[in-house]
Amino acid sequence: MSALPPGSTIGILGGGQLGKMMAMAAAQMGYRCHIYAPEPVSVAAEVSAHFTCAAYDDVEALTAFAKSCDVVTYEFENVPVAPLHSIETLVPIRPGIRALEIAQDRVEEKLFAIGLGGRTAPFEIVGDRQEASPALEKVGFPAILKTIRMGYDGKGQIRVAEPGQISEAWHQLGRQPSIVEAVVNFDAEFSVILVRNTAGDIRYWDSPRNRHEGGILSQSTLPAGPLIESQVGVARALAAAAAEKLDFVGVMTMEFFATADGPLFNEMAPRVHNSGHWTIEGAATSQFENHIRAVCNLPLGATELVAERVEMANLIGADADRWPMLFADNDAHVHLYGKGQASPGRKMGHVTRLYR
Ligand code: AMP
Repeated sequence: MSALPPGSTIGILGGGQLGKMMAMAAAQMGYRCHIYAPEPVSVAAEVSAHFTCAAYDDVEALTAFAKSCDVVTYEFENVPVAPLHSIETLVPIRPGIRALEIAQDRVEEKLFAIGLGGRTAPFEIVGDRQEASPALEKVGFPAILKTIRMGYDGKGQIRVAEPGQISEAWHQLGRQPSIVEAVVNFDAEFSVILVRNTAGDIRYWDSPRNRHEGGILSQSTLPAGPLIESQVGVARALAAAAAEKLDFVGVMTMEFFATADGPLFNEMAPRVHNSGHWTIEGAATSQFENHIRAVCNLPLGATELVAERVEMANLIGADADRWPMLFADNDAHVHLYGKGQASPGRKMGHVTRLYR
């Protein structure tokens, strides 16, 4: 398979900051990007050559988009899957549709990981309110109720501390098919970020230690420390098995809990990931550049850490108001996504610091 020559057009489904950073990497390498997103304002479109603003299930618009692109990728994992089948004969979609399908469904995702030999937190499926109580009793309190679909950044999940809170939690989540999951008593959280090309070669970045607040990533640091480092091998083997099973092309991220019994799989993202933003300055090749290299069938870039210590902190909501101070800090690499209005929990930017 030959490389897609610079000057070609890369289609990106989704118009957020991940698409923006992908498009910036692609532009540096001489490619043009075409963003497809339903929101009229797209931070990715602002740095791209073309923009189609249309619904994800608008097959006519999707077809025209596909015909204008040499390859299509995605930055948003909740893109509806069914309409994509109508364009897969027109243009290669990398990574494929199956990876999206699995990542969109918490049950499928867990069963996929278990099928490959991974361990997950104990969980039960809850189809309706009647099933919630017995499922919670089985898993034990405290537990977490999570919607099966459309969960991200702490959305679609609620902690249930005791039986009296079940009804309220069920209603707050919109009475949707869900799972209940045991609260994991973890020592730390980390992610495996890998890139795989069409030839099946895999490269890994160093695994960061991730700290979440309210279900949202707040900080990634490297090196992750001996506890996580001792569990990375097992976690990488699971991520590699998943990538191979899916014939995955591009960047894939798996999030893990480091526990006394080893790594516990939490989630898979079939895309570049917030816990890999540090790679822009902190690794020889960023996750964004290597994703573009992979989907364009170019050789993969080196992934090693280029500093002794790296820290990436998210700017969430009003954190971004600190920009004058951040830009005045000589050591801070400031990334602001240009998303306009800050609201609580909204990712507005991030700051990376390298220590040598
Ligand atoms: P998720 O959307 O499932 O990735 O959850 C976001 C974050 O919430 C995780 O990174 C953890 O910090 C926390 N969390 C999710 N599930 C659990 C669990 N079963 N036990 C403890 N913490 C959890």
